[in-house]
Amino acid sequence: MRNLALGALSLVVVARAERPLVGRLAEAVERRRWGLFQRLPLPRLLRDGLAVLGMDYTIYVWHVLTHKVPFLWRFHLMHHVDMDMDSTTALRFHAMDMLISIPWRAAQVAVLGTSRRALSLWQAFFFASVLFHHSNLRLPARLERRLADVLTTPRMHGIHHSTVQAETDSNWSSGLSLWDHLHGTFRMDVMARDDRIGVPAYRDPKKMRLGASLAMPFREQRDAWVQR
Ligand SMILES: [Zn+2]
Repeated sequence: MRNLALGALSLVVVARAERPLVGRLAEAVERRRWGLFQRLPLPRLLRDGLAVLGMDYTIYVWHVLTHKVPFLWRFHLMHHVDMDMDSTTALRFHAMDMLISIPWRAAQVAVLGTSRRALSLWQAFFFASVLFHHSNLRLPARLERRLADVLTTPRMHGIHHSTVQAETDSNWSSGLSLWDHLHGTFRMDVMARDDRIGVPAYRDPKKMRLGASLAMPFREQRDAWVQR
């Protein structure tokens, strides 16, 4: 219920601020042929395909930044403190995390040259992928390994949610797993264990209630990877 409530707040930001703003920007990008892929002498379908790939890659970059830039980590932290991963974790994002990602999203669209259609395609793919890789689906190990060659899978993303920093610093992809394969940040060599999900310095269930979760970015920050 808590995750759904936090997700509802985030959804308000996405629906009221991000979607209208970035949607209008994508229309302008298409009309004026702004951005990298709009300028390529290629059929529209190919340009859109490349833009979807570009969006997926630059979300990988944004995800790394949300961990490595302390100001951004304050807001992303609330997503990672969940000690029990399932599809509701996919919605457990701080509304401010959504708000501060809008300039990045706008830059992605303007620099890559993402049309309205490419943006809608990417949004649908991204949302489905996020629900899938945060889920607690237990897929047959061999099937999952095959799938992880191409997509971000639950076990793969479970390793990113580990309490061990060296494991969290891997599997940054949110859609195609290609980016982790290319950057050498792909890991499937450890078992994602249910008792090792979360952030070591934030494991007090009382501090994860709705109000405390929302206040998290505005409180004094602890060293996240040191157990208290
Ligand atoms: Zn993360």
